[in-house]
Amino acid sequence: MDLAPIVNDARQWRRHLHQMPELQFVEHKTADFVAEKLASFGLEVHRGMGGTGVVAVIDGKGPGKNIALRCELDALPIEEQTNVEYSSRNEGAMHACGHDGHMSMLLGAARSLSENRDFGGTVTVIFQPAEEFGGGGNKMIEDGLFEKFPVDEVYAIHNMPGVKAGQVAALAGPVMAAARSWDLIIRGKGAHAGWPHTGIDGIAIAHDFTSGCNTIVARETDPVEAVVISPTQIHAGTNYNVVPEVVKVGGTIRTLSNESMAMVMDKMRQLAKGLAIAKGCEIELDIHEGYPVTVNHAAQVDAALQIARDTFGADAVDEEVAPKMGTEDFSYMLAKKPGAYIFLGSGDTAPLHNPKYDFNDDILERGIGLLASLARKRTAA
Ligand SMILES: [Zn+2]
Ligand SMILES: [Zn+2]
Repeated sequence: MDLAPIVNDARQWRRHLHQMPELQFVEHKTADFVAEKLASFGLEVHRGMGGTGVVAVIDGKGPGKNIALRCELDALPIEEQTNVEYSSRNEGAMHACGHDGHMSMLLGAARSLSENRDFGGTVTVIFQPAEEFGGGGNKMIEDGLFEKFPVDEVYAIHNMPGVKAGQVAALAGPVMAAARSWDLIIRGKGAHAGWPHTGIDGIAIAHDFTSGCNTIVARETDPVEAVVISPTQIHAGTNYNVVPEVVKVGGTIRTLSNESMAMVMDKMRQLAKGLAIAKGCEIELDIHEGYPVTVNHAAQVDAALQIARDTFGADAVDEEVAPKMGTEDFSYMLAKKPGAYIFLGSGDTAPLHNPKYDFNDDILERGIGLLASLARKRTAA
């Protein structure tokens, strides 16, 4: 099937969406745009699931499986610095993760599938809110996504800078990390900086805590397990000559197994408790809920890579890809349904979440082709 007219339109959609980025759970205009396009393909559109989520169903001819394809609606709170003519018109928001491209690819695939219903079964396209923050995919599941749309498998594509443009890469097992953010509050005792011994110095304790975190990773974790503890914030003090009373530290934990995450959280809590006793002060550690590990299913990864090879040639597939310590709320869907989270190389662009990032339109065609082929072949599997 000639995708050229669809790819041409997808490029326009992508640039239009790039100009109107919206943050988590307020993707109203984005959802309007997506819903309008889906309706123009002759599809019945379901709205409002998980907040701004949009779902449409494409019925094929005759029996077959129900295959879901999913992408994200949301943008990031970043001020764009690309200088492209279609730059963000919403101050403080930017499509810096390529979700504008993902939506355009999925719209393109939906159009191709609705124009040519040469498959059995059903294809369900899912546009979810709040991937970056807030777990919009999980909210859709809680809203009954898979009861209302009983799909057999789920697939998603994410573009990946640094990987050759158009290269398809996937691996079975853990592919994106579990994450937890944390806040530590140390309530020491303020003092004159010339007489530090009369106070309890929270800054020194914050140092003990962060260096203790490094020891959890380096000395208390099985070296073959991937574990990251990154302190990313530290707030204390306003004077040169005062030992501050309160010190706040914040950061993130990343692991590739839910067991490692449980172990790390346990050790960090012990460390905070132990330091409070040792230093004679109050220490509070709050670890917040976060996305679980994204675990790909082996049979669906194998199938997706074979479809990519058959459609684009063996050279288009990279099997050497390693898991990444970023997070992904597609993890919730993959915990409920077999499926795969697939990387699509976007070549030499700025990194994801960077103010200079811009989705590479040259990979739209491959993305649309891959999604449509996945749907056509897996409905028949
Ligand atoms: Zn992102
Ligand atoms: Zn993303």
